[in-house]
Amino acid sequence: MSVFVPDVLAGQVALVTGGATGIGKEICRVLGRHGARIAITSRRQEVLDAAALQLREEGIDVHVESCDVRDAVGVERVVAGVVERYERLDIVVNNAAGNFPAPISGISPNGFKAVVDIDLLGTFNVTKAAFEKWLQQHGGSVVNITAPFEGMGAAFQSHVAAAKAGVDSFTRTCAVEWGRYGIRVNGVAPGRIGGTEGVRRFAEAVPGSQGRRPNPLGLTGHGSDIAYMVLYLCSSAARLVSGQVICVDGAGGVDILKLDPDGP
Ligand code: NAP
Repeated sequence: MSVFVPDVLAGQVALVTGGATGIGKEICRVLGRHGARIAITSRRQEVLDAAALQLREEGIDVHVESCDVRDAVGVERVVAGVVERYERLDIVVNNAAGNFPAPISGISPNGFKAVVDIDLLGTFNVTKAAFEKWLQQHGGSVVNITAPFEGMGAAFQSHVAAAKAGVDSFTRTCAVEWGRYGIRVNGVAPGRIGGTEGVRRFAEAVPGSQGRRPNPLGLTGHGSDIAYMVLYLCSSAARLVSGQVICVDGAGGVDILKLDPDGP
């Protein structure tokens, strides 16, 4: 049960990239249950349609349009479509990401570039399009979903850690440049979140990683843990919070990221 009043985002519109699966879908669900109308974009139309069906059955107003966040023109089309349909765009959640856990020796230049392009360039494309189409004139809130690798090495995650470090830097710069427009920009860095594609792939690539204590609190993270932090950041309770990257990770689950990628 939510501790937030159900209409905390009433009348607002949120665009969530990668919102048809995993953590992104839970963000859509939580923002939608608290009054926001939801737009989702990602590449696979059938996955978008399935998520839309499910969320609409839960009473949430959902619009989906497929797009690759690396395609700046496509992103502009999606953002324009959201503003045309709902006549506003208050919240942008950059959640779309590429991920395939691998040691540096197992990543090709194209593989590394793909993750940087989806996570970092994609975040730039979506945020800039939203700024130009709506946020500059009306203000709003941007939340970038990142990862808790700031200031440390993370085995099997060199590409993701590099991309997310760029995202975190972009978060802080946007917050400084755009505060004057009433735009708040923050990041949320999830720890290991159970039941997600990211964790499934990690378990495949690093056998035994799942047996370990997930974090000092000993709690398995859920998508809703991330979604409620996003909800807080988008609410007026966070009116003075901007340029922050907040870890939601039970005090850190970094042990699995310190494994020797070549094995024991
Ligand atoms: P996920 O289910 O794989 O979600 C990624 C989403 O991004 C998918 O819906 C995917 O849809 C979309 N996407 C990928 N490439 C795209 C592109 N080029 N253009 C548009 N959409 C694209 O992953 P998740 O585990 O829930 O992760 C969600 C976020 O949390 C990510 O930013 C991830 O880095 C972060 N995170 C997750 C964990 C975790 O424990 N799971 C931990 C730390 C950080 P399509 O393939 O259909 O495009």
